[in-house]
Amino acid sequence: MIRFDNSYARMPQGFFARVDPTPVTAPRLLALNGPLADRLGMGRDALTVEMLAGNAIPDGAAPLAQAYAGHQFGGFVPQLGDGRAVLLGEVVAPDGARFDIQLKGSGPTPFSRRGDGRAWMGPVLREYLVSEFMAAMGVPTTRALAAVATGDQVWREQGGLPGAVLTRVASSHIRVGTFQFFAVRDDRARLQALTDHVIARHYPGADGPLALLDRVVAAQAETIAHWMALGFIHGVMNTDNMAISGETIDYGPCAFMDIYHPDTVFSSIDRQGRYAWANQPNIAVWNLAQFATCLIPLMGPEEAAVEAATASVHRFAPLYQAAWLRRFGAKLGIDGAQHQPLIERLLSMMATQRADFTRVFAGLSNDTARDEFTDRAAFDAWARDWQALSPDAAAMAQANPRRIPRNHRVEQAIASAVADDMGPFRRLLEAVTHPREARDDWADLAHAPTTAQLVHQTFC
Ligand code: AMP
Ligand code: MG
Ligand code: MG
Repeated sequence: MIRFDNSYARMPQGFFARVDPTPVTAPRLLALNGPLADRLGMGRDALTVEMLAGNAIPDGAAPLAQAYAGHQFGGFVPQLGDGRAVLLGEVVAPDGARFDIQLKGSGPTPFSRRGDGRAWMGPVLREYLVSEFMAAMGVPTTRALAAVATGDQVWREQGGLPGAVLTRVASSHIRVGTFQFFAVRDDRARLQALTDHVIARHYPGADGPLALLDRVVAAQAETIAHWMALGFIHGVMNTDNMAISGETIDYGPCAFMDIYHPDTVFSSIDRQGRYAWANQPNIAVWNLAQFATCLIPLMGPEEAAVEAATASVHRFAPLYQAAWLRRFGAKLGIDGAQHQPLIERLLSMMATQRADFTRVFAGLSNDTARDEFTDRAAFDAWARDWQALSPDAAAMAQANPRRIPRNHRVEQAIASAVADDMGPFRRLLEAVTHPREARDDWADLAHAPTTAQLVHQTFC
């Protein structure tokens, strides 16, 4: 039995469309996240493969597709919505925390437009690996509770591919785009209802829309700084893919850098580099400005509201800068705020010498970092200045993963899964969800890709 308490289903008409998942032909469990089920207080036996595939609707669920709008690559689309996902309902964990349980890839909804409502195994398994790694590193993120194969084919550019459904857990799926949906319709009453819901659910101390904006700005500054410190590139930071909770959401063509360069882009659909690694904080500000624009009508007299909202969004820069210095400082075991030039000197050497982002930072703890550089003398000079600060080894061990879900490994795990072998997925998942553990039998997973193994593009 799963104890649902579906607060979003109690929102006024217009927030969602009630729709059941569409049953699939031959559901088969690919992965189940036992520790997450325990954390949610869900008995593992309640999580049947039929339910996780959308073939059986558990008692107490109220499946629905959420309405939202969004700026996609800067262009506004007034109606997007869950086109291939349904929110089964919400569960309240034993500690009182509320979580959405969503099936992604569960069939068409009234928001599907021309899409088939489905997902294939590749993106489902990539999201599983990447989101669980992010959780293990302490990054605010949605989680993966389960993945099932559907037994049905999904048609994409690459041809017919095995379908899959991801069960995703989030503190909510409410996005900047959810606010935009009502703002563009000038629906003040629903905008207020959404604001009240979000404050009660995510920011109970906030005493109105401006305080909500302040809190979301602060949460996003922390999240994006954390992404940057892991070399993570989201890939599609559209406003419909930015969660109000501050959690990382909608892992699509996302990836971690191997070779460090600030302009790195992997997404096949990001042709202009709008969502390149170094541009992510700027895009966050842009998205938060859209969020602020939605809230202004709720903030009283317009001139003062605009001024206050603008000031709130502008606070992203100093908050982000402080978080970035704290995170990169921790990666070097030093006080980042006092030693910014030293951090930047290392990053600029890494960029010009094409060093591996993860291996440099992990290697600082065991004297292997210099192997990542071609100009060893320049690295040694930097390392002497750094060592003179007596870096804190424990802080470094906490901040720097030994292993990340590298693109070539993720692709291998997906290819094996498609060929009915979940072994590589399971091994990679275990390794990246224990990212700080030193384990000789996982040494290969810490290697950088060879030139032949390099993945240059990711697809959703
Ligand atoms: P995304 O780029 O994955 O964040 O999705 C953007 C929008 O397209 C959302 O409204 C999705 O629900 C919708 N969408 C993406 N893929 C599909 C699909 N296969 N079928 C229906 N809708 C989709
Ligand atoms: Mg999305
Ligand atoms: Mg363990």
